[in-house]
Amino acid sequence: MMNVLRNIGVRARLLLLIAAAMLPLIGLIVTGLVISYRDTEYEAHRNVANEARLGASKIAHIFDDAQEFLATLRHMPQVLEAQQPTCNTLLAGLKAERAQLLSIGVIAPDRTILCHSRGVTGSLFHDEDLFEQTINSRGNRFVVGDFLVSPITGRPTIAVAMRLPPTAGRASGGVIFASLNLPMVERDVQLLAEESGHSWMIVQPRASRIILGWPHAVEFGTVTPGFELFPVMRAGRTGRTAAVRDLGGQSMIYGFEPIPNASTGDLWLAVGIPPSEVFAKVERRLNWTLLASAGALILALGGTALIAYWMQLRPIALLSRSAQRIGAGNFDVRTGMGQWQAPEFRRLGQLVDRAALTLAQAKAAEEAVAAGQRRFQLVADNTVDMITCVNAEGKRTLVTGASRRLLGYEPSELMGLSPIELAVEEDRAIVRSLLDTCRLGGEVSGARYRVRRKDGVVIWVELSGRPIDEIGGCVVSMRDVDQRQRTEEALAEATRQLELLAATDELTRLANRRTFNRRLEEAFAQTGDGGDFSLLLLDVDHFKAFNDRYGHPAGDRCLKAVSETLAACVRRDDEIGARYGGEELALILPGVGPSEALQRADAIRRAIAALAIPHKDAAGGTLTVSIGVASRSELRTGHPGPTEIIQKADEALYAAKAGGRNQVRALAA
Ligand code: GH3
Ligand code: MG
Ligand code: MG
Repeated sequence: MMNVLRNIGVRARLLLLIAAAMLPLIGLIVTGLVISYRDTEYEAHRNVANEARLGASKIAHIFDDAQEFLATLRHMPQVLEAQQPTCNTLLAGLKAERAQLLSIGVIAPDRTILCHSRGVTGSLFHDEDLFEQTINSRGNRFVVGDFLVSPITGRPTIAVAMRLPPTAGRASGGVIFASLNLPMVERDVQLLAEESGHSWMIVQPRASRIILGWPHAVEFGTVTPGFELFPVMRAGRTGRTAAVRDLGGQSMIYGFEPIPNASTGDLWLAVGIPPSEVFAKVERRLNWTLLASAGALILALGGTALIAYWMQLRPIALLSRSAQRIGAGNFDVRTGMGQWQAPEFRRLGQLVDRAALTLAQAKAAEEAVAAGQRRFQLVADNTVDMITCVNAEGKRTLVTGASRRLLGYEPSELMGLSPIELAVEEDRAIVRSLLDTCRLGGEVSGARYRVRRKDGVVIWVELSGRPIDEIGGCVVSMRDVDQRQRTEEALAEATRQLELLAATDELTRLANRRTFNRRLEEAFAQTGDGGDFSLLLLDVDHFKAFNDRYGHPAGDRCLKAVSETLAACVRRDDEIGARYGGEELALILPGVGPSEALQRADAIRRAIAALAIPHKDAAGGTLTVSIGVASRSELRTGHPGPTEIIQKADEALYAAKAGGRNQVRALAA
């Protein structure tokens, strides 16, 4: 049922609706037709009954005439006396005047024929039944006999009879009879039947016999037990009509009526009308009605189909076409609903058009966004720096295509992971703190750390990040600074080397004079006025002579050994050994007081002496040095500077030389 319903379109549904709406009308028409049919049928029955009644009364005159005739005859003396040949002659004459009669005769009480219109006398009257009825009747009763074929004339007939009054010769009278000329009766019936145009029959229902009829149905007096009318007639139904089949099997409506004055012969008139004639009018009407109804139905359905097309199907088709186009992405569609269409459809059309417009705008906006997105993607993918969005959980939510070149990873491989994971173990803390800073709202700029690329190579990267409230995290850019880092490191190393070179004496590897001056100034300032600070000045004894004796290169080697010994005697990082000039060396001793300075100086003197470098021109045969010691606390001026302490140490050195060399001297304040 559902399946059938599912496949019924709007047009078919509308047609069904109209058909359903027309059903009561069709019902009314059909009812009218049925009533009309019934009326016609009833009318036909009534008419045929009337015709039978009228016809029977008309046919009755044949018997009335016969009765009248016999009534006249039964008093005639010739008949009563039955003298021959008088009687026969009389009867023959009377018969000749009456074509409707076949014969006339007088019967004796012993049933022998006394006289006869044909002169056949002496034989027994063959219709015993009629004879008995008549002879036994009272008065002048008119008796109609059964159908028979006369043995005298050899022709079919019905005899009618009356009792003769008793005479002197015949106490019981006798009977006068006449036999009817059935073909003549038939002619009468024919005239009447032709006048009405219907089928007439004189029948004997009890004997199932058709006496005669028009149009000719059968031979006179044929017994037809199969004729359906007889059982109906015998049943004695009231109304005296029946719709049965005639002998030819055709449907007929029969009306039947006993023929007055012939009841003793069980003679009835049956009048038959074919229903086709009866119903011809009503059938014409039925045909016209059917034609008109069919026409009206076709017109209504056609009209409905047309209206349905313009009012329902077309707007639906327009709407569905628009919907299809919109579905296919064509948003320029306009439904084009006619202004005369139903407001519901117009409204739907407007809604669809508006939806298309909205979708078109949305599409344009989407395209603009997509273009923007593409531009962004282009920029992002082609930017050397890798841009990353990191959410509040520290996981990447966006990675640009630069990740391929920078780290060897596809952006998708890095999504959802933490930037900390790529950092080398030692630098992870740096990254963690950078991300924390950013998450707490701080900006990070130029932070460097090392990451391990996908191919295992470790490179230096620089990370800058800004917190972005909208994403609840940071936007971080990472760039490859590996080359720069290494260049910078190399540069720093070179600079350091240069600085070292610039600050160092090439021969002795001690700080040079320039460095000495700077460091002395710095250290002197750092210790402050009240702090301990000492300076040693060292000069090789008789070095000119050494050079002269052993050569300048040997002098250089000697000077180097002395310098190394001095350097070995440096105890703290802030103590600085320097070449003051020529074969004069210095040692800055911040935080060292006068007595410790003397001890330190003497330890140096001894260490150099312990080198035992041969020096034939020296007093002991080996190389010695003299050391002048100056301490800050021994300076006399209120605000002594480096110059003062150098001056003081130099003076102490001079004193050591003057005192015989190979000794340490400090000058008291
Ligand atoms: P004294 O100090 O004991 O009074 O005697 P001295 O011979 O050492 O006297 P002076 O200080 O005047 O001599 C310094 C000598 O040191 C002069 C120079 O030939 C030598 N000299 C200075 N610088 C160098 C150097 O770099 N290499 C060598 N081989 N000799 C140097
Ligand atoms: Mg000197
Ligand atoms: Mg000297």
